[in-house]
Amino acid sequence: MTHLSRRTRLAAPGAALGLTAALLVTATTSAHGQQADGQRHTEKVPTSIGYGGAVTSVDPEASAAGLQVLKEGGNAVDAAIATAATLGVTEPFSTGIGGGGFFVYYDAATGQVHTIDGRETAPESMPHDAFIDPSTGKPYNFTPELVTSGVSVGVPGSLATWQSALDQWGTTSLAQALKPAIAVARRGFVVDPTFHQQTEENKVRFDAFTSTRKLYLPNGDAPKVGSIFHNPDLANTYQLLAQRGLQPFYNGDIGAEIVRTVHNPPKTSTTTLPIPTGFMERSDLAAYHTIDRAPTHVNYRGYDVYGMAPASSGGSTVGEALNILGQFDMSSMSTAQQLHHYLEASALAFADRGKYVGDPAYVDVPLSDLLSPTFAAERACQIDPTKALSKPVAAGDVTSYDGQCDTPSAATTSSGDHEGLSTSNLTVADKWGDVVEYTLTIEQTGGSGIVLPHRGFLLNNELTDFDAVYDPADPNNIQGGKRPRSSISPTIVLNNGKPWLALGSPGGSTIITTVLQMLVDRIDRGMTIEQAIADPRGSQRNTTSVTAEQSFIDTYGPLLAPLGHTFSPAGAPGTTAAEIGAATAIEFGPQGLITAVSEPVRRGGGSALVVTPAP
Ligand code: GLU
Repeated sequence: MTHLSRRTRLAAPGAALGLTAALLVTATTSAHGQQADGQRHTEKVPTSIGYGGAVTSVDPEASAAGLQVLKEGGNAVDAAIATAATLGVTEPFSTGIGGGGFFVYYDAATGQVHTIDGRETAPESMPHDAFIDPSTGKPYNFTPELVTSGVSVGVPGSLATWQSALDQWGTTSLAQALKPAIAVARRGFVVDPTFHQQTEENKVRFDAFTSTRKLYLPNGDAPKVGSIFHNPDLANTYQLLAQRGLQPFYNGDIGAEIVRTVHNPPKTSTTTLPIPTGFMERSDLAAYHTIDRAPTHVNYRGYDVYGMAPASSGGSTVGEALNILGQFDMSSMSTAQQLHHYLEASALAFADRGKYVGDPAYVDVPLSDLLSPTFAAERACQIDPTKALSKPVAAGDVTSYDGQCDTPSAATTSSGDHEGLSTSNLTVADKWGDVVEYTLTIEQTGGSGIVLPHRGFLLNNELTDFDAVYDPADPNNIQGGKRPRSSISPTIVLNNGKPWLALGSPGGSTIITTVLQMLVDRIDRGMTIEQAIADPRGSQRNTTSVTAEQSFIDTYGPLLAPLGHTFSPAGAPGTTAAEIGAATAIEFGPQGLITAVSEPVRRGGGSALVVTPAP
């Protein structure tokens, strides 16, 4: 239910937001009220400092859409949904209504942090062995079988998340929030090098589906950099949802089409990809619901750090690692020791994530133990300042701990992690002090590769986040109706009860380490938030070597190698895989001063905008 008090904040409720699309562009307006032409937002602004609210995302069109909502009197939630819907147009390989995500919200009126779990969900009839190839009895390969498939498509949660957030805390309707995105989908946006490169990198699988080929390989090739990309099918889909709400998606035609497509993907006659089919039924869509969850919370050096509870492992793993690091006086350490402790704490927390965290509707997740400072004190005993632990490290024992350094650890559990590179993150603040941190995804870049025919959006492949081989003891095993474990880590940090920092990132399981590293950089290493977002990234997820950007290996490798750390480059140079994360953040300073940051370089750079720039 929308809070009346929120509505009263608008100078001119409804009517003001109704102008959003028209004001976004310096447009000539046709007789039908559509923009015939207009200014497109292409400028990338990595940092903006100012007042009155801010939006930061990876994309200039999406950030501009959100900023306009704020300027017209909308609040952070209204702006976040407008930004997210626009990302669905301009960042379609990372986000969209075909996927899901996790939404964290600080409500200035109450001082409370709320979260929405909008995770994709496994079909009820999905069997434990869904990822075993019936023809061989062996697990499907991750690539290409699982990645490009109907079997990995989870019931999408993004649209339900948007509706839930607006209903609970917004001041506008879904119809209004979709307007800027509809305008961008119709008038088109400028193809940037990242969009082009992501299309190129997905060419083989996009070419496997008639619908995807038609939309993203229009003349058999990726759209050229600088060309204008239109998505009228998506504009019409959003328009239908604006008119009819969620019904067509979860209980109507669009849902029926998703089910049909998952069972019978629109394969091209030329593809040789195997494309396993899925289990989703219309009843799965009808049963889908978001879940309001209590946020995770730890106190780190006086800061209250709120994050996302399971089904994401983000809040518990970032929180546990911070609790471990809280045992040490990090700020007085050398750079080598600071990073050594960061990497070791991360490995320890990942060991516990692997053993204990899954969908809490199916797994008894010992969340309070994982976030207990006493448990962390015991885990911290493992860290040797003179040498890196041999990986994988064992998980801790949550049934018996006393914070002392003598308790033996439980057996090692280490599950392989597929480092996704898709997903998008946004951070929004409004002039009332409300803050949204929202990470949304379709899992891999390009999701399942399947555009829903005539609807203009890609279906996710989020169920690849389950572990493929069924083990009853594995908290992330496949079960019908379950949510696969996520790493998404939208984080809001309060200082004396007021927002101080909000941040999040894409990057599969490296999301956790990117958020952790940025917090350590900002809080313990004396970096500004601009420096923290630009810092070279290394990710230790309880693996033999540290997955790292080449710049991390070059900058910090010589400091860390003597302690026994080894490194694997995150991906081939020049590919999008070589980067770790694409974060956004907002820091709140004195007297309402806001610093909004996006990536200066990764993913081609993002766009951070404030309502009133500082003079
Ligand atoms: N599927 C991932 C997760 O939920 C996100 C994908 C990505 O960021 O690449 O953890």
